[in-house]
Amino acid sequence: MQVEGADVLISEESVEQASLTPEEIYAQVFREMRPRTPIPLIKVKFCRYATASAKIKLADGVLQVRIADTLAGAPDSVMEALAEILLSKLFRRPVPAHCNERYRRYLNRRDVRRSLDLVRQIRGRKQVESAQGLCYDLNQIFEELNFQYFHGLMARPILGWSPNASRTLLGHYDPSHNAIVLSRILDRPQTPRLAVEYVLFHEMLHLRYPAEHRGARRCVHTKEFKVAERKFEKFGEAQEALRHL
Ligand SMILES: [Zn+2]
Repeated sequence: MQVEGADVLISEESVEQASLTPEEIYAQVFREMRPRTPIPLIKVKFCRYATASAKIKLADGVLQVRIADTLAGAPDSVMEALAEILLSKLFRRPVPAHCNERYRRYLNRRDVRRSLDLVRQIRGRKQVESAQGLCYDLNQIFEELNFQYFHGLMARPILGWSPNASRTLLGHYDPSHNAIVLSRILDRPQTPRLAVEYVLFHEMLHLRYPAEHRGARRCVHTKEFKVAERKFEKFGEAQEALRHL
């Protein structure tokens, strides 16, 4: 979210939602490569790796896939390419060139590279500079807001304080990497907790109400978004607190 000025784009990233689960994608690719082998139990886990890495193993009838959570928001076509790469390696087959190409192209996208850099920055740092700030613990505040406003049903994204203390960009949600980052400027004793709660709540609404595309126009703060935002207790007071930062 930005201070001053309404409707400002918070991320240039477009929202891409998977229509297949990762397990379904792996099952599909597995079936294509090994049509006569029964499909094993497939477990795909997204892990907090600092880099965009992935691992695969087949043991005791379970196909275990571990993928960096930064790739959790990648489009189906990219997830499929990664599945082909990993399964090819597992079965010691040459990796199809078009898969390598598609996967590499995705990682090379400017916005993806930027997000990967950000995650590397956040995770490469000390504990105090991650979700646990000097004053406020974003994980804790997230859980409270989740309980109060989202029936505790929202899956926790990557949460972190930004490396630099921006005054204009107080927070942003990065959909392709499922990360909410708040400006370090808010992690100070003189910042009321209410202000931190409100900025985090705003970003959580971006998760709940994805941006809408109308032709070339992209609306990040939809009507439902704004209605939901007004449900924040002490909405006016929180906005007032931000104005005085
Ligand atoms: Zn916003």
